[in-house]
Amino acid sequence: MSLSCPCGLSLPYEQCCGKFIEGNDLPQTPEALMRSRYSAYTKANVGYIAKTMRGEPLADFDPQDTLAWLQQVQWEGLKVIQTKTKSEKLGFVSFEARYNVNGEKQAICEKSEFHKIDNQWFYVGGKMLNPNKKW
Ligand SMILES: [Zn+2]
Repeated sequence: MSLSCPCGLSLPYEQCCGKFIEGNDLPQTPEALMRSRYSAYTKANVGYIAKTMRGEPLADFDPQDTLAWLQQVQWEGLKVIQTKTKSEKLGFVSFEARYNVNGEKQAICEKSEFHKIDNQWFYVGGKMLNPNKKW
């Protein structure tokens, strides 16, 4: 599985999320941005996480706190549950991200909202989903 990207797709990281995280390309869909943000979390790349957000999530974002938290987290996988593109500038991605903190299994289940601003997709907010739903 060494050839697969942290986001779960069977592509080398450099050809998948890596090209976005390294700044060589821009994600063309909300799902591609969402996957690259997950991969950035697995690499503790808070700079990329910050620069792909706008609005409230960015205002609430604390890079130091996030980095401290990420030092204790082992990421176990991403499952994209549903993607919906409402218009050329508005999209939603529902996902579950599984991780482990000090041996305790946890998950983030969220319906994320993405806006396209100046030809680039950004994460602008999310709603928690029921984490007990199986996938
Ligand atoms: Zn990827």
